[in-house]
Amino acid sequence: MEAHVLEQFRLRLLTKRNLLLHAVKKTMEENRQSDSRMSFELVHDNPDRSVDELLKHVSAHVLGSKADELEVIESALQKISENSYGECEVCGAQIATERLQVCPEAVCCIACQALRERIDRTAPEPAARPQPPGLHDYLDDDE
Ligand SMILES: [Zn+2]
Repeated sequence: MEAHVLEQFRLRLLTKRNLLLHAVKKTMEENRQSDSRMSFELVHDNPDRSVDELLKHVSAHVLGSKADELEVIESALQKISENSYGECEVCGAQIATERLQVCPEAVCCIACQALRERIDRTAPEPAARPQPPGLHDYLDDDE
């Protein structure tokens, strides 16, 4: 990829990252009050759980998608500095520049993305997966 094209992508990613960081800060401020109210109710219902743990849970829930997006952008910027930007993470092929122009943080080529989406549709959501039985037993014993 030509240096000036790469620089364009780098600037777009940086701009996107700044916007996201700004949005995350705003969300955190806006949610501070409702977070504590919600946490109070949760603590009230679950006296065994710590407030810290609940706050973490609530913030992660509220910020989840933005935090994920930030992570993807960070890793794209990392790749630019390592000169591996634009390579498909799955098959190693060069991702089409047209695709990167639409989605500069893309980590895999169109073919692998399509495959991934097909797998995502059939796989259960991570939260819906049952916990490993070992962990359940351990937690039960702990009480
Ligand atoms: Zn690929």
